[in-house]
Amino acid sequence: MLVRDVDPPRSRRYTERMVDLSHGAGKAEVSRVSLGDTLLTADGRSQGGESVLGVAVTHTTTPRPRPTGTKLGFGRYLTDHVLVAEHDAATGWQPARIVPTGSTRAEIASGALQYGLSIFEGLKAFKTDRELRLFRPDAHAKRFAVSAKRLCMPEVPVETFINAVRALVRVDADWCPAQTGGGALYIRPTLYADESFLGVRPAQQHVFSVLLSPVDSYWDGEEHSLKLWAEREFTRAALGGVGSVKTGGNYASSLLAAKRAKERGFDQVLWLDAVKRDFLEEAGTMNVFVRIGDTVITPPLEGTILAGITRDSCLTLLREWGVPVEERPVSLTELGEAAKAGKAIEMWGTGTAAVISPIGEVAWENGSIKSTGFEVAPRLRKAIDGIHSGRDADTHGWIVSV
Ligand SMILES: *Cc1c(COP(=O)(O)O)cnc(C)c1O
Repeated sequence: MLVRDVDPPRSRRYTERMVDLSHGAGKAEVSRVSLGDTLLTADGRSQGGESVLGVAVTHTTTPRPRPTGTKLGFGRYLTDHVLVAEHDAATGWQPARIVPTGSTRAEIASGALQYGLSIFEGLKAFKTDRELRLFRPDAHAKRFAVSAKRLCMPEVPVETFINAVRALVRVDADWCPAQTGGGALYIRPTLYADESFLGVRPAQQHVFSVLLSPVDSYWDGEEHSLKLWAEREFTRAALGGVGSVKTGGNYASSLLAAKRAKERGFDQVLWLDAVKRDFLEEAGTMNVFVRIGDTVITPPLEGTILAGITRDSCLTLLREWGVPVEERPVSLTELGEAAKAGKAIEMWGTGTAAVISPIGEVAWENGSIKSTGFEVAPRLRKAIDGIHSGRDADTHGWIVSV
């Protein structure tokens, strides 16, 4: 049920300290409806405090320095507040609260720090001249629940996840940069084991937290097409593992290969399958797409790759446009033969952070494949940017107002 929200206005003193990140765009007017979620918000307000969408807020008294200059980069700045909610196996979820960034602590003897019991999500809030909006938060919430299940963690209900994200984005709305140039508030929900216990078993205590970071384009400097190293020594995931889970360990194990690729002069790694070391899996931390002639191909979701929401959005758009699309294994061998036969090749990566990243070249010890031109990738980028910014109608119900 949708109910009228009764948030008190933000205190003036707080507002005055804000540095304008909007680059002249109109101030966001957030919609005032609540999802009526009560699961994490049983007691609502803290002593005499404010609540946003039923989540108690303790405002910071020492606002963080605002980014200066034009470049935000990716993930360099955190906003003033974080959302936290604790879960205990015996008592369930405690009410979520929004507190100053830096006021929470993690347990050193926890499954999170000792055994990698940690999952996360990454989604974005965009500022239009009318509102702040989220892109497919329900899909992110569902994937978060799938990740939690795989690592024996408590599930955060979908409505609760969305409500938590909306509440925090409302509190730190002024941090959201203008959408031009890829500006957005990057939202990082995290769930980690926080029980002080060194034994190996599912944890009894967890923390759900949400962080926000103002970002512009993921890639530093001018956007360019990526050069990827096709990695044949290390692999990212094998069938039956956690390759389809958004968990920290997948990133930890990828760093050495990425470092070596950079030392060789490449931007990132192209991950290959763990058996043949020939089939494409992912482009760094993005899903990978190739076009051979007129047909767009992307690897299937069979447990070793992340079920990207940008990937799914691209597939939906391509099918609507009548572009032939195949979700099936595609190998370097097949790409090499297609290139030799003179067919057009186009490669790109997809993910929330960079949205669409053209891949100019994939190389390995004794070979390489180059994109012959970019047609579909820019069209996808334009379509998705258009939906994010509100320039184009959201015909899929992908946008949720903050
Ligand atoms: C998050 C992620 C993606 C992209 O998923 P989106 O939902 O599109 O952001 C792709 N690969 C990996 C390994 C990821 O962690």
